[in-house]
Amino acid sequence: KSIPPTFADFARLARAAFGDREFIIFEDERVTYDAWFRAAATLAHKLREMGVEKGDRVALAARNLPEWPVAYFATLSLGAIAVPLNGWWTGGELEYGLTDSGAKILIADGSLYQRIKPHLENLPTLENIIVTRPAGDLDQGVIALADLIGTSHEWAGLPDTDFPEADIGPETDASILYTSGTTGQPKGAVATHRNSLTNLLSSAYATTRGALRRGEELPPPGTLPDPMTVLLVIPLFHVTGCTAMMGPVMAGGSKLVLMRKWDTVRAMELIEREKVTLTGGVPTIAWQILEHPDRDKYDLSSLDSITYGGAPASPDLVRKIKSDFKSSPAMGWGMTETSGTVTGHSAEDYLNRPDSCGPPVPVAQLKIMSEDGTRELPVGEIGELWAFGAMVVKGYWNKPEANEEAFVDGWIRTGDLAKLDDEGFCYICDRAKDMIIRGGENIYSSEVENCLYDHPAVTDAALVGIPHKQLGEEPAAVVHCAPGHEVSEAELQAWVAERLAKFKVPVKIVFVEETLPRNANGKILKKDLPKLYFPEAAA
Ligand code: ATP
Ligand code: MG
Repeated sequence: KSIPPTFADFARLARAAFGDREFIIFEDERVTYDAWFRAAATLAHKLREMGVEKGDRVALAARNLPEWPVAYFATLSLGAIAVPLNGWWTGGELEYGLTDSGAKILIADGSLYQRIKPHLENLPTLENIIVTRPAGDLDQGVIALADLIGTSHEWAGLPDTDFPEADIGPETDASILYTSGTTGQPKGAVATHRNSLTNLLSSAYATTRGALRRGEELPPPGTLPDPMTVLLVIPLFHVTGCTAMMGPVMAGGSKLVLMRKWDTVRAMELIEREKVTLTGGVPTIAWQILEHPDRDKYDLSSLDSITYGGAPASPDLVRKIKSDFKSSPAMGWGMTETSGTVTGHSAEDYLNRPDSCGPPVPVAQLKIMSEDGTRELPVGEIGELWAFGAMVVKGYWNKPEANEEAFVDGWIRTGDLAKLDDEGFCYICDRAKDMIIRGGENIYSSEVENCLYDHPAVTDAALVGIPHKQLGEEPAAVVHCAPGHEVSEAELQAWVAERLAKFKVPVKIVFVEETLPRNANGKILKKDLPKLYFPEAAA
């Protein structure tokens, strides 16, 4: 019997095949695939009783908790649309997400519910609010999730029930995930079950394909991959965390260790305790473990891979992961609009091309187009990256103008400037919006940032443009050095001048003690940097 392609089907399959295995670990809570499924199916029936139908939006405003994968799959099983909201958002921003999506139900953790509370009168479409934890004293009409399905310790004892009957198929909308809002107001990207499943299946295959390319031996056909243990420290509300959560359900049998918020020491304790095989998400996480003074006190030898994407990573990081951890670095590029990563590579492929984000995953296509979108550019030339494939979302929710701009015949104009090499490897140079034009000369941030990173003292760097009367803009850099390392502005400028054209040398370099300001998804907030670090120039 073939598997009908929706997330509900894959959830049933994962439970049938791996019911007794642990799926979610959170602090002292250990939830098996069977217990998770019982909770999701029970919640799906409760949501149905509240009137949730196909196409209704169920918003999820919560940190990484075991309730998250339960609520997500319960929603999708009904043909309803899950709308994860950013846990870092203010009350006003959460109100935007709820209004924009027209959510009917809100499932929130205690602190986020408190943040939304003052905005409730502006949210007329919201019919029910369900609070995960801490539930505390709830206002009238607000429901505690534990009253519907019990606490995670009780899920294994819930009745053995299936998801309710629902008319869903691959074209049913599954989720509205908001973009990170790095360049403007976050946009809700609507992914169907097909969009999201294509991404997951294709990315999973891409890992094997890398090994095929390199001529490594593969396990015999029909063998399941060894189950992984994933330490998930990036937020579930972002596309990278969300796909990392769904991956184990698809592949089956893997374990997710959740962390509510990042803490380097706690992460190292968990890697040792749970024998974590894969972690990462964003490059910063890898740096923080690498640089931690107590790193050697923990047994991190179970780590097979440190995988990240979403932001540029320094080539130095790639080499350090290999040498210091003896594990394989892996990197991907993707966006909310492509349902996750659509390029990726690891191991030798990545070590040999540390400035690339890999070739496209199977069934995805990339091309480089001229700025006006009329001409495809040849190999090696820098232009706008366009991506195509069933993983590209059907569009933005409620944003006809943005849809018109971004989606062309199934292709997405990514807004990223990139080039491809003759083997199809992709190199991200900059976001079009961040590219610096100095007196008519283009400066791509990543080239200069990579050069800064190559200096032994530098571990974090961002290049931004500061206004200049005659030239329009000039490059300036904000740099963070490894503890105990120092370099002067003049030395670092000379370092860049030896390696790159003179017009690319940052005219000012500011050194910061702290790491650079990033959003919840690990992206440097470039638009804030000129004001923060070059106030005279930016004024
Ligand atoms: P918004 O679209 O709201 O401005 P955003 O583009 O940051 O925010 P996401 O969809 O989370 O929202 O991020 C996608 C972007 O992240 C890509 O367009 C690209 O600029 C950047 N990115 C992703 N992966 C990489 C990578 N490996 N290297 C460099 N940049 C990356
Ligand atoms: Mg974007």
